[in-house]
Amino acid sequence: MKPLRVLVWGENVHEQRDAAVQAIYPHGMHTAIADGIRENLPGAEVTTTTLQEPEHGLTAERLAATDVLTWWGHRAHAEVSDAVVERVQRRVLEGMGLIVLHSGHYSKIFKRLLGTTCSLNWRVAGERERLWVCHPGHPIAQGIDRCFELPQEEMYGEPFAVPTPDEQVFISWFEGGEVFRSGCCWRRGNGRIFYFRPGHETFPTYHDRNVRRVLANAAEWARPQGQWVDACVNVKEPREKLGTR
Ligand code: ZN
Repeated sequence: MKPLRVLVWGENVHEQRDAAVQAIYPHGMHTAIADGIRENLPGAEVTTTTLQEPEHGLTAERLAATDVLTWWGHRAHAEVSDAVVERVQRRVLEGMGLIVLHSGHYSKIFKRLLGTTCSLNWRVAGERERLWVCHPGHPIAQGIDRCFELPQEEMYGEPFAVPTPDEQVFISWFEGGEVFRSGCCWRRGNGRIFYFRPGHETFPTYHDRNVRRVLANAAEWARPQGQWVDACVNVKEPREKLGTR
């Protein structure tokens, strides 16, 4: 099997402006995410790019050479060009995997692919999050115990305004009492989509061993399952002869 080509996309805005975020992620959140995938998937080719690159680093050539794209964005969702969003959507429909992280729930690409508002309730209070595995046989949950905890995270609570996931891998409980569907799978066209909740920029979530394992498992799970090109062919020559019955 060919090496899995993973492209980690980072908005890379908080890291430039906020000293607290810079202290946790001196080389950017995208670098920590990429390192976490590499460490658990040594055979994969993992590269990074950011919003600040021409065409946000998501040219047609780059996307054509990408099997799985991961997406972390927050402050600059509106700065992502519609043309690039359309290009990413097309690649997902063709078969590219997409992993949307944390505040990426409000990214243009996630809302477009899911077709709903993707809203949720939230609170930044540095509370404990416990992620329960609700599908132990799922490839994304491999190597994870019955649950794992993050000592400090932002709270995301239900209702999460997304279409009912095709598969539910994790559910989170927060110290303040809320719960949230924190690991969700969908398919759109030929592509696999995974949403993974943790990852607020002021907490060291992407240095967590279990989070990194989930990211790598998700990248492997989202590997393209064959290539489909939506050509809408006018099949003028029928396979069988018409009008003989
Ligand atoms: Zn956040």
